[in-house]
Amino acid sequence: MTKLYISADLEGVCGVVSPHHCSAEPDRAAYEWAVSQLEMEVGAVVEAALDHGVSEILVNDSHCTMTNLYLEQVDPRVSLLTGKPKRCAMSAGLDQTFDAAIYVGYHAKAGAHKGVLSHTFHGKLFDVSVNGVSYGEGGINALYASLVFGVPLVLASGDRAFVEEIHQLLPGLETVETKEGITQTSAKCHPLEKVLEDYAAKTRKVLENRANWSEHVLALPGPYELQMTFINPLAADAANTIPGLERKDGRTLVFNTDNFQTLYQMLQSSYSILAFTSYLE
Ligand SMILES: [Zn+2]
Repeated sequence: MTKLYISADLEGVCGVVSPHHCSAEPDRAAYEWAVSQLEMEVGAVVEAALDHGVSEILVNDSHCTMTNLYLEQVDPRVSLLTGKPKRCAMSAGLDQTFDAAIYVGYHAKAGAHKGVLSHTFHGKLFDVSVNGVSYGEGGINALYASLVFGVPLVLASGDRAFVEEIHQLLPGLETVETKEGITQTSAKCHPLEKVLEDYAAKTRKVLENRANWSEHVLALPGPYELQMTFINPLAADAANTIPGLERKDGRTLVFNTDNFQTLYQMLQSSYSILAFTSYLE
């Protein structure tokens, strides 16, 4: 009885390089093509997992509107968490009943060299760090899964810059590299057939090595200091309306807690509130 959690983003998928791939406006055809690629990549993991003893899979649609995926296009045997807002966003629905987590279509953190469509949670965030170490979305989400629920990240996919970034946190992690970034909006994409085969092979491999999953559970003792540095002071001003955040400098807010669940939710709230501040645009 193995239960898998899949968080699916879009920017790290093979062939996706442009903001036009990432939202329905202004180019619906480009966006729909990108989502069909994501469905293929998630589908490759799902099919291999269900063929190798996984009994239950929850796919969390983790990109932008979080209504990108359609169940029948992924696999009719999975549960799909779709729509927003949802508490814990890219990690919504995760709890201690899951045996492992897999991230598909992830991207490198804000500012990463050759990171295709790189950013950290929100375009107005310049950097996110915990206890002085800078993390991208994959790292923060993997810490959340481990520290709050004891769930290990066992497989992750995205562009080369993301793979290099996640290996700094989890050196032994199995990964699927979909493309090699050239600039932030261009890449040399690997052959799709190879990418899909790689997903199936790596999924099989991690399932055969179930006994080692506990080694992938990350440890980071508290207390925790979250630092969020925004691109400009106005975004920090807006996020600073949330009680409990201390202003470190013009662009940086700090939050201290012993509880990683609280840290994660504070991070989500701090960038989500920017959506309601239209004067930032
Ligand atoms: Zn995304």
